[in-house]
Amino acid sequence: VIEHDVSRFVDMADRLVVLADGRIAYNGPPREILADHGLAMRDQIGLRIPQATEFALEARRKGYRLETLPLTIDDIQVESFRFQQLPTPPAERMAFPSTEREVIIEVKDLSFAYPGGPEVLKNITMDVCRGEILAIIGRNGSGKTTLTSLFIGLNKPASGSVMVCGMDVSQASIRELSEEVSYVFQYPEHQFITDSVLEEMLFGLKRQSLSPEEANRRAMEMLEMFQLHQVKDRHPFALSRGQKRRLSVASMLVLRPEVFILDEPTTGQDQRNVNQVMEFLQKLNQQGLTIILVTHDMELVAQYAHRVLVLDEGQVVFEGTPWQLFGEELIDRQHYGLIIPDIIELYRRVRNRYPNVAPVTSPRELAGLLIEEK
Ligand code: ADP
Repeated sequence: VIEHDVSRFVDMADRLVVLADGRIAYNGPPREILADHGLAMRDQIGLRIPQATEFALEARRKGYRLETLPLTIDDIQVESFRFQQLPTPPAERMAFPSTEREVIIEVKDLSFAYPGGPEVLKNITMDVCRGEILAIIGRNGSGKTTLTSLFIGLNKPASGSVMVCGMDVSQASIRELSEEVSYVFQYPEHQFITDSVLEEMLFGLKRQSLSPEEANRRAMEMLEMFQLHQVKDRHPFALSRGQKRRLSVASMLVLRPEVFILDEPTTGQDQRNVNQVMEFLQKLNQQGLTIILVTHDMELVAQYAHRVLVLDEGQVVFEGTPWQLFGEELIDRQHYGLIIPDIIELYRRVRNRYPNVAPVTSPRELAGLLIEEK
């Protein structure tokens, strides 16, 4: 199995061979490698390791002794850890203030079918608010891509309406919509159309009435932010996977859209690449960028989304916060293939014992709440 997400198969594999920079960095039984090098694999090589393991290794740094290294949360005895607590039980984390909701995309009674095919979107009503990070999730074929393709005018509604930044998508041109909404495809290669990284950045800018100097300045500034300035003359296809992903995101962000749609940011990307892109997007979100994530990655949803929409067979079957999705029995998660991230389950177990522990969405955050052992 060739993978960059170690957590997917670690309890099945007999042996793990970790490559870095063309060399074999580690080779041996998974548990041993993770025990000795787990955090280096995360920090230096950029791989995703099991969340339970990550928490345990961070705990070891804080002085906790590990008899055997946990690979799953069932290997963790919550009572052997001590956590800092708040004076009173905290509210669930609600990152997005729901008071002032300014709707930026409004979908009403939307239905859609591809020519000659069955309905793939059925009577959908939903909205996207300015400044939020909305995750749209659901099984393959549930209609996520089709729904978001309507936001950029690639498809037109059969019935119902879609308003994007005040424009009716049935009437607006792709060009008008693309000034407000940027779409980054799952496979970055599918969107590259020029012969160099810099050209790729400038392509969309040419349609905006900027002086060549200003366009160049903006493009270079963005390339630097995404650590691509050193490869600015390279052909986009000659970049590494992570660089391609960053370029696909940067070339859209440089256009300063209001809404940014990212289709499956984790596909083919190791943890470091995902984190780099997501942390940058989170910063822009704090400055007002509205973000729609189309994803099946529940760890990403838990960590970054303010709100989640679950689609199934072309219908909205759930809408709420990640905490409601993972924490409350509002939806048959198993039926829709929604797996609770280990860290959220672990946090719930911690919270059962220590009710005043602040909500967290990553192993690092949870370990940050540990009281050091001497
Ligand atoms: P998701 O993004 O959730 O995987 P899609 O929106 O891609 O779902 O697909 C929804 C349904 O529409 C599926 O049944 C799929 O087969 C169908 N579909 C998607 N794209 C097309 C197309 N271009 N032509 C015909 N049917 C399509």
